[in-house]
Amino acid sequence: MRIGEVAEHLGVETHVLRHWEDVGVIQPERTAAGYRNYDNEMLARLQIVVACKGAGLSLEEIRVVLHSREAGRRAAIRRRRQIVDSDIKKLRNTRRFLDHVIDCRHSLVTRCPACSEFAETSHRNSGGPSFSVGHLAH
Ligand SMILES: [Zn+2]
Repeated sequence: MRIGEVAEHLGVETHVLRHWEDVGVIQPERTAAGYRNYDNEMLARLQIVVACKGAGLSLEEIRVVLHSREAGRRAAIRRRRQIVDSDIKKLRNTRRFLDHVIDCRHSLVTRCPACSEFAETSHRNSGGPSFSVGHLAH
């Protein structure tokens, strides 16, 4: 496949594919005339790149994920995994908070200890928003 077909197939711009090549994420073959030629293996790889981008990985992280012999691969994946775990924790707390607010009986959220706890912990750099299950009883 030519670059234009691949770009359309994946729903990305051609300059994005060239950029991924520039930073070493993918290296398509060239035809005798010098055109990029993407085979099925390359297409499969690009679909993984798109999926990893959607999962929030950086191009450098994707580059090391794609090649099992890359130095520091495990460390990069573990770092990303820690961030995902932390994001899951934040999202769980956010959902707990939203579930609470639906039924919060305080006239003002500032008068609710549970809502206040969420607000106070949201802007801290470490740990992210916290929402205690114990407050759910109002
Ligand atoms: Zn509340």
